[in-house]
Amino acid sequence: MLTTYHTHSYFCDGSMHPEDYVRAAVEKGFTAIGFSSHAPVLFETDWNMKQELLNDYIETILRLKEKYKNRIQVYTGLETDYYPNSPDYRCIPGLDYTIGAIHFIYSKENNRYMALDGTPEEFLETLNTIFDGDVEAMVKAYYSLLTEMISKRPPDIAGHIDILKKNNAGDRFFSEKFQWYRLAVETALNEIKNKGIIVEVNTGGISRGYTTEVYPSVWIMKMMREMEIPVVLNSDAHNPDWIDAYYEKALTMIKSAGYTTQRVLIDGVWQDVKL
Ligand SMILES: [Zn+2]
Ligand SMILES: [Zn+2]
Repeated sequence: MLTTYHTHSYFCDGSMHPEDYVRAAVEKGFTAIGFSSHAPVLFETDWNMKQELLNDYIETILRLKEKYKNRIQVYTGLETDYYPNSPDYRCIPGLDYTIGAIHFIYSKENNRYMALDGTPEEFLETLNTIFDGDVEAMVKAYYSLLTEMISKRPPDIAGHIDILKKNNAGDRFFSEKFQWYRLAVETALNEIKNKGIIVEVNTGGISRGYTTEVYPSVWIMKMMREMEIPVVLNSDAHNPDWIDAYYEKALTMIKSAGYTTQRVLIDGVWQDVKL
């Protein structure tokens, strides 16, 4: 069964109209496709949806849901950011789910939000401005924000939970084998387990050439499997051609971690289906 619930269209930083993605999904034989525009934030960014587009976005996806209902299931989601005082979008009408993610961290030094998962230049700027070059402090701050989001504002799905490896090719900044790294991950997973949240397996890092592995790494998936945390496979596509990018590779990784099922939204209910 082919599905994805993590899709960016031109309402945020994706490239095409949502209907182009729905058509591509029908052509590829998908059972369901969910949209997850970057929800509006309270500061300027290059990739979040503007507040004034939110209603249009929800209505557009609802129209597609109706129009394509005999061919594919279409769902309305949002990829929501978490930071102090961030708006809570989880209960807005018409929304089927949220993917919670951490992309920004507040810098007191220059009173603005800085990217955690941006370009290598942005990563370095955040590292040097807020953390004085201390990677361990930056990684711990990321996982502590993630854990706080799960605890205080649990989404349906935790998005790309080890996103910081995006700029860590060749272990440039840290090793995932470091004890402190594993502990930070484990703390977040404990909270994810407590709240009964699904973790996505996200192929977006591979399709955009940042990583060779999915988010999260296989060793993290193995830990999740032991804790019986459910997974959902998502492509994080920013273009209709990428809605199933690297799905075969990802399925091999998920299965190698011991998973035999994934949790998907079908007929309006989150349910486990065979991989
Ligand atoms: Zn994201
Ligand atoms: Zn995304």
